[in-house]
Amino acid sequence: MAGSSTHAREFARSARSPAARRRWAAGAAVAALLVTASPAASAHPGGGTVPKVPVMTGYGGAVASVDDDATRIGIDVLRRGGNAVDAAVATAAALGVTEPYSAGIGGGGYFVYYDAKSRTVRTLDGRETAPGKMTATSFVDPSTGQPLPFDQGVNSGLSVGIPGTAATWQQALRRWGTLSLRQALDPAAKLAQQGFVVDATFEAQTAANQDRFADIGPTRDLFLPGGKPPAAGTVFRNPDLARTYRELGRKGIGWLYDGGLGDEVVRTVQAPPVVPGADRVFRPGLMERADLSAYSVLEQAPTKADYRGLTVYGMAPSSSGGSTVAEALNIMESANVPGMDAATAAHYYLEASRLAFADRNRYVGDPALVDVPLSGLLSQGFADERACRIDPAHAGVSPVAPGDPTAPYGGCPAAAGAGEPEPYEGLSTTHLVASDRWGNVVAYNLTIEQTGGSAITVPGRGFLLNNELTDFSFAPLYPGVPDPNLPAAGKRPRSSMAPTIVLKDGRPYMAVGSPGGATIITTVLQILTGRIDRGLNLLDAVAAPRLSQRNGAATEAEPGVPADLRAALLARGHVLKDNPEIGAATALEFLPRGQVRAVAEPTRRGGGSAKVVWPTG
Ligand code: GLU
Repeated sequence: MAGSSTHAREFARSARSPAARRRWAAGAAVAALLVTASPAASAHPGGGTVPKVPVMTGYGGAVASVDDDATRIGIDVLRRGGNAVDAAVATAAALGVTEPYSAGIGGGGYFVYYDAKSRTVRTLDGRETAPGKMTATSFVDPSTGQPLPFDQGVNSGLSVGIPGTAATWQQALRRWGTLSLRQALDPAAKLAQQGFVVDATFEAQTAANQDRFADIGPTRDLFLPGGKPPAAGTVFRNPDLARTYRELGRKGIGWLYDGGLGDEVVRTVQAPPVVPGADRVFRPGLMERADLSAYSVLEQAPTKADYRGLTVYGMAPSSSGGSTVAEALNIMESANVPGMDAATAAHYYLEASRLAFADRNRYVGDPALVDVPLSGLLSQGFADERACRIDPAHAGVSPVAPGDPTAPYGGCPAAAGAGEPEPYEGLSTTHLVASDRWGNVVAYNLTIEQTGGSAITVPGRGFLLNNELTDFSFAPLYPGVPDPNLPAAGKRPRSSMAPTIVLKDGRPYMAVGSPGGATIITTVLQILTGRIDRGLNLLDAVAAPRLSQRNGAATEAEPGVPADLRAALLARGHVLKDNPEIGAATALEFLPRGQVRAVAEPTRRGGGSAKVVWPTG
């Protein structure tokens, strides 16, 4: 596939020319007419003629996301000559319309990209940052000296980080895409204008947030029309967001980071538009115009782990996703997981995750402000020391203590210091994957932190602001132990997002990622070990009932975990706790002769949508 890089270069050159952009615009107009004229369009204003499915195999590139309209928009971009980066940005912008509680320009995220031409994996860190006025005690209530109750942090201007998503889209397109921001936003703007059909997930997510949404005027007016959540089956339109996308496309991201939209965001954060008689106090935030101007997306090296002949690339800190997935895989590497019975394999997966989380909690924060021992965390020597703490017959007792990731390594050293309690992390975000006919691949997690973010909509602009700064520790996790994740000026809160690309002999083998706060790491890990070690096909690896151990007293288990597996884990001393649903993954697998298989969830979050450009099965 990389052999087609000349083609890719030619396309990139021609697509950037003014003539190509005119051709694109003409093509877009024709495509819009076709969508509007199709019988499906009358029943479904978002358009789309292929029914939503969780798996599709074929040629020409692929997209998988949680939402059918968003996936369809990404596929249209590929079909009309765009590359995987163009498709990923267009899909993400569409998710800002149909998944506004998880994604959008009010938030941030992490973009992992395999470039077929150079055969390298690149990453963009578009994480939100803390305002310049933030300090280690900004989430401590001055009147009590205690950390703020979590929901007072969430429903607050204080938790709104400087958004990174628009800058990520712009940077990804400039570095590796072929479309302008305006072109990439155009289909999503149309979708916002025409509307999409509300599904049960959107209705339920709105209902779950109804109380706090009702406290903020522009959020109530947009998401609770007539005072109620939009009902499944009705059409939801967001003309404010359509206008915002169009203006952003026209004016560029300077409108947000150095211009009028930035002024509006700052005003909203400093004085959240609370309705009279609201149930909650929304504290003012600390964001200022200078914070927006200072924001930048970081391009940095991915994390890398060699695992059973494959190379697994992920997101380096400020996310803990890449390093924690890599460390857990390295811990499992020395055990013969493929040869184990199912219960023993699950035990090793849970124990590797338990140990890797102990190290993550102790050592990972924003490397711009904290000394993160990343090479130690990624080293096989350190992982082997940690693996030696696994008892094949007994579960570890959490919180297990972190290890010491500094060299030299060897033997079976005792843990370093005390075990720390599990930090709380809200959910939920969204993850998408995209590939193209030239062999480029994207895995992209974007988020506004928890479902519905801060609940604060920018008046007249149609998008919610994040509450990402609640991913900081409000106070040190454990007395006397340094916490790498305390708030500070300009700091990125530690994330768990883990968009992952796996190469085999230097070429794409898999891409995978998920939402779910800290469970993202275990979901990605479980899918990887399911596919690589246990021989599950990719759809089964995604669909399999999930277990999640994050150095907590109990391991979370979805209801579908079979009784015999539960019994075998209990016999080893694992404590199981129900979690009705963990994650909502999307994934790609690259098959021989240029075929690709796109996979989304069959049922979680109402089922996702996987499509390829030319389906064969
Ligand atoms: N704030 C979370 C993180 O950065 C993302 C939210 C979610 O994944 O559900 O890890």
